[in-house]
Amino acid sequence: MLDRVLDALETVIEPDSGEHVLRRGMVRDLDVDDASVSLTLVLDDPGSAFAATAQREVEHALRAALADGVQIGVAVDNPVIGFGDDLQVDGKKELLPGVRHTLAVASGKGGVGKSTVTVNLAVALARQGYRVGLVDTDIYGPSMPVMLGLETAKPRVNEQRRILPIETRGIKVLSMGFLVDPDKAVIWRGPMVSSAIRQFLGEAEWGDLDFLLMDLPPGTGDIQLTIVQTVPLAGAVIVSTPQKVALADARKGVAMFRQVDVPVVGMVENMAWFEPPDAPGKRYFLFGENGAAELAQEEGVPLLGQIPLQQPLREACDSGEPAAAGDGPIAAQFDALARNTARSVFRRAATLPASKKIEILYK
Ligand code: ADP
Repeated sequence: MLDRVLDALETVIEPDSGEHVLRRGMVRDLDVDDASVSLTLVLDDPGSAFAATAQREVEHALRAALADGVQIGVAVDNPVIGFGDDLQVDGKKELLPGVRHTLAVASGKGGVGKSTVTVNLAVALARQGYRVGLVDTDIYGPSMPVMLGLETAKPRVNEQRRILPIETRGIKVLSMGFLVDPDKAVIWRGPMVSSAIRQFLGEAEWGDLDFLLMDLPPGTGDIQLTIVQTVPLAGAVIVSTPQKVALADARKGVAMFRQVDVPVVGMVENMAWFEPPDAPGKRYFLFGENGAAELAQEEGVPLLGQIPLQQPLREACDSGEPAAAGDGPIAAQFDALARNTARSVFRRAATLPASKKIEILYK
């Protein structure tokens, strides 16, 4: 039911931007059950031609998509919180003013393919027309420069002395690896990392972005906690293999984000199985079967995708040509992952309240 509602809402386009109402962040208070759908449309320009017809268009799209008996309620609200404000944490918003959704990509354990997934997810989102930025915050072992063939890249600074991210394959990229010598960074402690990242993010010229993906260092310790508290996060994506030891750490990741009130928008199971090229259809579950999928279910978060273990993906990483930029089966896997991720973020934004309640506390 919820999927049908989201499909229907994606057909309602705001003509000036060419973006659907979910992507524009115009849908709030979304509440769906078997018998009814209700939502609030937040009109960012109440005087526009679209504002005059938007409510009818949304009702019409929902009516066409849903069974006859389903009750549909579409309210309209003025922009108390317009797009871009939706998921930002108070006081941190000014750090990334043009960014709609900042997502942290985390893993409990190292080596599960977090950076591989982040880079390819970013490329896949960009191929779907989103404006995407990518930040590698892993000062101890930045891998993004290698994966994107940017080992020798040095970001430039504009006249306002703001850092210009490197543009490649439709995404804007900054890696701590561009700026910090990893050998020197090993002695950094949490507060240093946090202030470096704040500076690094805040002084960069990102422009307007739909998604900024942030590759966190592996683990769920002090450093990760400091970073997620530094940046206004819309949500977190957790990458894990199906293996028990990785899952235990992924669970800690979920707990860490809950602790700081960052919603986990989903989980990605990487290295989910191996299908030998000479025996198509035959799957080997080298690290266990469906472990991350089951963890996602247990934790009540969406499973965004399962990526098999495949040699061309590893080769693509090593050669600096992300596989998601191609047109083979790997690109299709990341295309599906990107769709699910965007949808999960939009869904979460759509269920937020239309206007912030102001609480007055009396002592
Ligand atoms: P992390 O960021 O979690 O430390 P990486 O993304 O650096 O992990 O991946 C670790 C290694 O595994 C890399 O050599 C990468 O190329 C490889 N790898 C990751 N995912 C896959 C996969 N699905 N299939 C094949 N190799 C993979």
